[in-house]
This record gives sequence, C-alpha cells and structure tokens, in this order.
Amino acid sequence: MTESDAKTFLFEKNPFPTAVSDREAILQNPGFGRVFTDHMVTVRYSEGRGWHDGRIEARKAFELDPATVVFHYAQEIFEGMKAYRLPDGGAALFRPDANARRFRNSALRLAMAPLPEQLFVESVRELVRVDRDWIPTADGSALYLRPFMIATEVLLGVKPSADYIYCVIASSVGSYFKGGAPAVTLWISENYTRAAPGGTGEAKCGGNYAASLAAQAEATREGCEQVIFLDAVERRFVEELGGMNVFFVFNDGSLQTPPLTGTILPGITRDSLITLARDMGLAVREEPYAIEQWEVDAQSGRLTEAFACGTAAVVTPIGKVKGRKHGFTIGDGGAGPIAGKLKAALLNIQNGRAPDPHGWVDRLF
Ligand SMILES: *Cc1c(COP(=O)(O)O)cnc(C)c1O
Repeated sequence: MTESDAKTFLFEKNPFPTAVSDREAILQNPGFGRVFTDHMVTVRYSEGRGWHDGRIEARKAFELDPATVVFHYAQEIFEGMKAYRLPDGGAALFRPDANARRFRNSALRLAMAPLPEQLFVESVRELVRVDRDWIPTADGSALYLRPFMIATEVLLGVKPSADYIYCVIASSVGSYFKGGAPAVTLWISENYTRAAPGGTGEAKCGGNYAASLAAQAEATREGCEQVIFLDAVERRFVEELGGMNVFFVFNDGSLQTPPLTGTILPGITRDSLITLARDMGLAVREEPYAIEQWEVDAQSGRLTEAFACGTAAVVTPIGKVKGRKHGFTIGDGGAGPIAGKLKAALLNIQNGRAPDPHGWVDRLF
C-alpha cells in the first residue's frame, strides 16, 4: 500500500450497528472517551511486505498472542484529533496533515514503521464519513478520533517489531472537564518528571502517559485536577501537563509558552494558538519559564492568566497552582479574557463559524 493507493480500504459495513434510537440517546450526554462508533480502520504492516490489508469494518476486539511485543516493550504510539460539525450539517477535520506528520515522527522515535501521511489522513477521513451519524451536534461536542499503532510481532527478544497494526477508532465526546469547570487547579510534580532530554517526550506514545499516571494520582490525592511537570534537569522550568501544553499571559498583553526543545509534546492546539494570538496582534514568546518566576509574577500581578491547551480540552484556564514549596492563585482564580478570546477564535474556525485564513479546516462532506 503506497501513497497512491491510500484510498483502498476494503469496506465491510457493520451488520449489527447500534440502533438509531439508542445512538440518539447516547449522544445526548456522551461524556469523554466512553462511547464508541460502529466501525474501525485497520491497516497491517509486515517487514518485507509493507503496509497492506487496509479495512474499515465493524469495531471489534483484537486477538493477540500473549508474547506480542506491545505487551512487553510498549512499542505503541497514538494521535488525538476531532471531527467537528459545520453549521450546514457537514463535517470537518482540523489540520489532519499535522497529526499525520507527528504520527510519523512518533513512529520513527519508537523505531516503528512510519505510516505514509496520506494513508493516515485518508483513513481518518473515511472513518468519519462512515460513522458520520455519530458526530454530536451540541456546542463543545465532537467526534474524537484515536489513530494508534501497536507492535504485533510475537517475540520476547528485544528489538523493533517486524509487524504492526495501525488502527483508528472514534468516540463521540462532550466537553473534557465535567461541567465545563471555569478553571482548574494544578499540582506541581516534584517527585516525578515526564520526559528527559533525549527521551520520548516529544513523541505521542502511551509510555509517556504510563509514566505520568503516578504523578496524576498524586495530584488527585492533593485535591488538584491536573499535574504540571518541571524539566528533568534543573527541576525548575515549567514544561507541560500530562496531556496538555501550557501558556502564560502577562499584563502587557504578551503570551509565553515553553519552547519545543525535545521534552515537550508539540501540540497542534499550541501551534494554532500561537498563530491566532499573533493574528490578534499579541506578542508570543517561546521561552522557558521558571516555577519561582511564575509564583512571583502571579503574586505581583505581572502574570494575569495561565491556561492549558490540547485537542481534548481545547483551552482550559488555570486558576490555582499548588505544590510542596509553592501555592498561588492566578488573577482572581477564574477564567481570564485572553484565554476566552483565543478559545472562541479557535472553536469558531473549527466549527466553521469563522473564516479559515490559514487553510486549517479539512471539509469531509
Ligand atoms: C496530545 C498532547 C498534547 C496536545 O496536543 P494537541 O495536538 O494540541 O492535541 C500536549 N501534551 C501531551 C503530552 C500530549 O500527549
């Protein structure tokens, strides 16, 4: 399977799709990541043969040998993206080419077979078209797409797998934080770091999440919604949350976000917000920001807002930050105006309510 025949997916319609009335009831309140559509995409890879056997068929369980590589050495990568409803009933993806490129980079970092970018984009487009009735219509809802790849060679020897399965599943989602909380409280992780220089921090791999869960559990025990990680070398510079990038807003109207030096996941939301902020005439710096400075600036009022961002939670204001050595409130602890403006600008483009000057919207039907 090459770039040119990427459209070739054998389609077998699910013979037992969810009943229309059941689906409509589910879509009233889907939550996040619990409701799945009727179909999935799979494409197989084997050394020597390349990518082959592309299918769209009924979503079903995998049958895998217990010695399959992914169970032992965690060769796994994934993506997260959304299909949005447009005002005329159509639907669109947002910058799927950027997800395809990142997926390829993640594969290379994990020594996995890179999937042709066009095949990635077509697979996601086709799944959305097949399961189009699962795209919810309520404001803030979307069809979340989860492309992922696992190593499927059966072998306990340590080496890159010779075989892979690429798969895309889809999940109807409402907003990520229940009740659309106005602002979250972060726990500063001092015991754990997320990614070290030379590690896998800029790859979107399940292993990074596995490594972040103990820190997230600590945050939960401390009464915080999310954890924020500091750099692994000096344990000073703010990096990102477990699955979201972070921005700081200052009283001169400028923004700052940590630079992509290899330990931070290059978020597509992050990149889009940098562009939108600059479009609004705001200065954006990609520079390191130390935790002590964050505390000083929040207390002096030089820092007026901070927010987290990512595909799942879009833009989420940060109200408070807590840790063993720190504890401070940002602004009045609620949602700030710049975060609100940027969130609205992004959602308006994604949902087709505003012009798309950067060519980000990929209309599917
Ligand atoms: C996916 C992810 C993000 C956000 O990336 P988007 O492309 O904006 O969704 C940020 N940090 C981590 C660790 C991630 O896995």
